[in-house]
Amino acid sequence: MYDVWKNALAEIEQQISAANFSTWFQDTSLLSTDDGHIVIGVKNSFFVKQLHNRYLDTIKSALEHNNIGVSDVTFEVSSNTKVTPRPREITHTTPSIKPYIRKAKTSLDPYHSTGLNQKYTLDNFIVGSNNDLAVSAARNIISSPGDRYNPFFLYGGPGLGKTHLVQAIGNEILKTRPDFKIFYTPISHFYSDFIDAIQSGKGKEFNLKFRKLDCLIVDDFQFIVNKEKSQEEFFNIFNDLYQLNKQIIVTSDRLPSQIKTVDERLASRLTWAGAFDLQLPKFEDKCAILRAKAELSDIDIEPEAIEYIAENVNTNIRDLEGEFSTILLMSEVRGVTPLELIKNGAVNINKQSRLRPASAKQIVDKVAKYFNLSPKDIRSRSRVSNIKNARQVAMFLLSKELNLSTTKIATEVGLQNHTTVMHGIRKIDSDLKKDFSLRDQIEEIKENIYG
Ligand code: ADP
Ligand code: MG
Repeated sequence: MYDVWKNALAEIEQQISAANFSTWFQDTSLLSTDDGHIVIGVKNSFFVKQLHNRYLDTIKSALEHNNIGVSDVTFEVSSNTKVTPRPREITHTTPSIKPYIRKAKTSLDPYHSTGLNQKYTLDNFIVGSNNDLAVSAARNIISSPGDRYNPFFLYGGPGLGKTHLVQAIGNEILKTRPDFKIFYTPISHFYSDFIDAIQSGKGKEFNLKFRKLDCLIVDDFQFIVNKEKSQEEFFNIFNDLYQLNKQIIVTSDRLPSQIKTVDERLASRLTWAGAFDLQLPKFEDKCAILRAKAELSDIDIEPEAIEYIAENVNTNIRDLEGEFSTILLMSEVRGVTPLELIKNGAVNINKQSRLRPASAKQIVDKVAKYFNLSPKDIRSRSRVSNIKNARQVAMFLLSKELNLSTTKIATEVGLQNHTTVMHGIRKIDSDLKKDFSLRDQIEEIKENIYG
């Protein structure tokens, strides 16, 4: 574990200034990594919030690059957090930095960050018949935020570009209005921040932070929970911003009226200015997306290979990108072109949206069978690792194939807590990125389900 953290730190140090590195990371340690729940030890509570706000994504990706699956990261004050010796090669490159002498400029406003990822732009969002209405509304918002499409409610299945489009709106607004106060947050983070704020007596700051925004972007609204206080807080913020003509942007995998936990008044307000959806891309859209991706990364790929992928991925754009990268990787490793791979039968894409959907029971049964377990084992609370793993695969498939809510999935696999479901799904999602045998297993299970 020590080595993993040492390597992750080495990577982080490459990405941030030496002063920031010594200020924020010098006294950190990796306390545990159970099931992707990463716990990082820090010196005192000040570091908890600061590391969370400033470096969460940096830490996540550094761990992932060191083959640690990450479903969430928490920071804990740890008395036995030792000063982590800096990796050797790094010491060489920055020998003159002494910890805590040159303090990084600490922001007085812990909420300064926009939460936006700059990789999402409108330039790299390909417009097709599946998303043109939403994109034209987005353009309107970029040129006059808070005006006609307010609130902007964007919905659609997973992997169809919701996060990309709404973050692109934020990034584009900032290009012409750099002082605009924009904040992007998944609804789940909104809750945890709200609860943190209340518990640490910072309710007022939380309140102010949101009320002074010019544009609030809330992602994955379907995860709204029916905790009275938090939902009420969101509702109040929504109303206050709306009255001031501040732009509000909300995404969800379905319409608000279809989310059981949401207050009816809030549900109706969210779609006051209409609801825009993102649909599955058609064949031409898929080809256009792949061509654009190839062009952006300066990759040569035969048009027939693009058409083959487009024809065979009928689920969503995330899968389309996934298959595309896999083929490119295979082509590089094996030294043959993508089209040759396809012609040799080395590529087996099986991403069809099913005409005849499976039932939740079928999925649980087939997963159990595949792992030589009984469906009862999956629904037991057993934490034995092979059972737990099978349960996570089942949760993953229930989510991807049937698009069930995490609460519904929890019921199907005998869990009480829907956050465990979220962790499980994220774990498989992140394992899939590097574990080719897991990919094969899942494909095989799908064949058993649908075949
Ligand atoms: P969602 O939030 O709806 O689950 P994302 O926004 O995360 O989906 O999109 C999944 C992936 O597909 C992302 O990598 C995103 O960049 C890409 N993507 C989605 N739509 C498009 C598009 N129209 N053009 C280019 N890339 C897209
Ligand atoms: Mg998303």
